[in-house]
Amino acid sequence: MNKDCLFCRIVRGEVPSQKVFENKELLAFKDINPQAPIHIIIIPKKHINSLSGVEKKDDVLLGHLQLVISEITEKMLGKNSSYRVVTNCGEEAGQSVFHLHYHLLAGRRFTWPPG
Ligand code: 5GP
Ligand code: ZN
Repeated sequence: MNKDCLFCRIVRGEVPSQKVFENKELLAFKDINPQAPIHIIIIPKKHINSLSGVEKKDDVLLGHLQLVISEITEKMLGKNSSYRVVTNCGEEAGQSVFHLHYHLLAGRRFTWPPG
């Protein structure tokens, strides 16, 4: 846990959030500035700066996180739905909160390549 990190503060309940999923290791909540009709942020509760900060011992946690994303989308959108999962790693890639998180975006058509 990191005292000043925004997402650690959300995990501790010091900053309110609209939670859509929570278990011992992970939290998912609605993005405050949604870029699609459905925009959920999924994080490990453990503080990791970004995908560049993951270690070998995080492999189970990261696998678990992807399974949870798949479960959330099935619950919210049904099977075989279309959605996009993004993690911005580093400032130039658009990362603004330095606690590892995945954006789950759905509910509209997405273009490729992203901006
Ligand atoms: P990044 O830019 O690091 O990839 O993503 C950070 C995301 O966190 C942004 O989409 C931003 O809208 C969201 N965000 C920033 N502050 C808050 C907050 O206080 N609450 C919630 N729910 N989302 C936030
Ligand atoms: Zn943090």
